[in-house]
Amino acid sequence: MTKREEQVVRNELFFRGVNERLQRLERSFEKHETAFVCECGNRRCTRLVPLSLDEYRHVRANSQHFAILPGHEDVTVESVVQRGARFLVVAKTGAAAVAAEADNLRLSPH
Ligand SMILES: [Zn+2]
Repeated sequence: MTKREEQVVRNELFFRGVNERLQRLERSFEKHETAFVCECGNRRCTRLVPLSLDEYRHVRANSQHFAILPGHEDVTVESVVQRGARFLVVAKTGAAAVAAEADNLRLSPH
């Protein structure tokens, strides 16, 4: 993995951690529509992605998948698996996929 790829992945995993905590918070408020932080590889991106809790859970069901805003995809480390008007779902490829899997084990309570 190159330095740049490493930085992109680290950034994505950081925001996934933030979103995991947001999800737990939202659940306690019983909200149905919510927004999550964009999980793209741009370190300076702090945009919100409009996602329902169900949509977010669906994305998170696969450890390689991340929810990002349209146009924020980086085809050098990920491929678009779902394209919608509000958000894209991207899948990590190569070394980035391995890092995402390892981080998912860390976040998961089991
Ligand atoms: Zn972004």
